[in-house]
Amino acid sequence: MSAKEDCIFCKIIAGEIPSFKLYEDDATLAFMDINPASDGHALVIPKEHTKDVHAVSEQAIANTVITAKKIASAVEKTVAPGGINLVQCNGEAAGQSVFHFHMHVLPRRDGDQLKMNWGLKPGDMDAIGTLAEKIKGNL
Ligand code: 5GP
Ligand code: ZN
Repeated sequence: MSAKEDCIFCKIIAGEIPSFKLYEDDATLAFMDINPASDGHALVIPKEHTKDVHAVSEQAIANTVITAKKIASAVEKTVAPGGINLVQCNGEAAGQSVFHFHMHVLPRRDGDQLKMNWGLKPGDMDAIGTLAEKIKGNL
């Protein structure tokens, strides 16, 4: 497992690096992806640091899915995409780049041709921040 001390998502949980936070409870945190594959792309993580689906506890994955459902509904209301994928990657070959278990809430549009390994392209931080406020308003 990648060390908790070097984990970017653990640093976001600790507030050591900034994020556009959408929702937080005792067990989970949701925030905007800064390399959005589409407008409204959000991430949901358990606060407990584990690497992937094999390591995550049943309680942590259950809590993460419950929060992902809340965020997906708010994203749906906010950006009205054609659809939403909940995506979760395990291992480099599957496109995992951050080794702290997480789920993507990924808005989709008809014909967007989004590939499973969509690549990382920095988004416009002002636009992401504005969308984050709107999504929070729909929670
Ligand atoms: P993975 O490729 O592991 O499934 O997804 C990791 C996601 O984390 C990527 O979509 C990437 O854009 C996002 N990410 C990486 N570093 C940061 C960061 O510092 N802040 C935020 N908000 N997202 C990040
Ligand atoms: Zn972590």
